[in-house]
Amino acid sequence: MSEQTVHLWQEIKKNLEKELPEASFETWVNNLEPVDLQDGRIELSAPSGFIKRGLEERYLDLIKSTVKQLTGEEKEVSVQVAEPEERDEATESEENLDGTSLQPPPVSSGGNSTEEPSSPASSGGGSTPLEGQERTGNTAGQMALNREYTFDNFVKSKSNQLASAASRAVAESPAESYNPLFLYSKVGLGKTHLLHSIGNYLKKQNPAGQVIYTSSERFAIEMIQAIRQNKNDEFRNKYRSVQAFLLDDVQFLENKEGTQEELFHTFNELYGNDKQIVLTSDRSPQEFSDLQDRLVSRFRWGLVADIQPPNFETRVAILRKKAAQKGLKVDDEVLELIATRVSTNVRALEGALIKAVAHANLAGGKLKIEEVRSFLPDESSEPKELTVGSIKEVVTSNYDLSIEDLEGKSRKKEIARARHIAIYLSRELTDSSFPALGKKFGSRDHSTVMHSHKKIDSMIEDTPLLYEEIKELKEEIRSSYEA
Ligand code: ADP
Ligand code: MG
Repeated sequence: MSEQTVHLWQEIKKNLEKELPEASFETWVNNLEPVDLQDGRIELSAPSGFIKRGLEERYLDLIKSTVKQLTGEEKEVSVQVAEPEERDEATESEENLDGTSLQPPPVSSGGNSTEEPSSPASSGGGSTPLEGQERTGNTAGQMALNREYTFDNFVKSKSNQLASAASRAVAESPAESYNPLFLYSKVGLGKTHLLHSIGNYLKKQNPAGQVIYTSSERFAIEMIQAIRQNKNDEFRNKYRSVQAFLLDDVQFLENKEGTQEELFHTFNELYGNDKQIVLTSDRSPQEFSDLQDRLVSRFRWGLVADIQPPNFETRVAILRKKAAQKGLKVDDEVLELIATRVSTNVRALEGALIKAVAHANLAGGKLKIEEVRSFLPDESSEPKELTVGSIKEVVTSNYDLSIEDLEGKSRKKEIARARHIAIYLSRELTDSSFPALGKKFGSRDHSTVMHSHKKIDSMIEDTPLLYEEIKELKEEIRSSYEA
């Protein structure tokens, strides 16, 4: 590869780093390597099929426009998956389960900081590729705020009136209007967007003030790590100095007694010190079945606001805003068609828009309404049921594998890894028991599937990249299927 190639790629990366939220840059771009940059084409190598597809779906256009900016030319950009390492035929033995097969792809050199906290080596023995990298940045437990999720970018409507007005009030006068603020809705209706908007607003007003935004899953992981490392006090203390604590998706704390206990103390500590608390969930506090009563009652101390699916006009307005935000020119006719066909989930709405634009790019720029019609979901199609089968579908399409691969006996690294992930997700997202899962994954013994689950569960704690990967998969599954 020529020096020029390396240089151009570095320039592209530099620009992307400015464009993207830190976490996205780290997850999607920083691990890419240029394979070939020739006249008219750029070929990149991604560490996994997952990263390849994520990139293609989200960032290819951005990369292309960055290239155009830098070189003044339109170039074809393609992504391939890096050659897997030799251990392809390794056995699905304990050693393999504990070893390299579940490790995230190696990261390129350079100690870039991310929003992730530093983490100890995994219990599996081998050092993780991320280990040893300097991980500065925010304090533990904090996740990056997405700069695009602002009040300005949020379309207000009847369906989210109370939730958006209350969020705004809380951002303007933290701990003085509603405390806590509890937002709930079905998936993809803007809870996370509002939570980030509050965080972004607070940070802008008071850059020195600390805002902690985290997901409940991450909160639970941090707590477990703190206990393991005997850092409970540190874990608790850090909340005393914040101005706001934004906790996303508290429904994941159901059944997690220890974490509920910790959240209870955190809540009291914050509340007692006049700190703003904002929580989100997929249901109202009353609808929890496995959450401590004292937590539920605290969640209701302030204001509880729901978000309903947007009506047609709002869907069109949201699409228009998203298109403008991404610098896309899309005819109203197309926006209206998308808004007609996709009605219950804003994330899906956005997905359809991106797909439409990708088609248009392929077709040379002009988006034809018939084409858009052809790939949009049927208006009448109900959300599909969330089953082990639907999880297998999402996993296989993300990793370019077949259902037979997941259920079969292949011990190829990529396949075994995807299989562990599918088993893990099935256990987390459905009510299936381990014996039942064993049956659904090629008549495996229940102890084998249990081991897969445990393995992923413990690796997530120490491997931020795997954590992100699983989180993305979960979101995709939840937004396309209903439990
Ligand atoms: P939730 O957390 O409720 O599952 P998100 O906040 O992640 O949903 O929203 C999914 C996507 O839809 C995000 O890209 C978000 O920006 C967008 N979105 C949802 N509601 C709105 C809205 N009212 N205006 C603009 N974008 C919205
Ligand atoms: Mg969310």
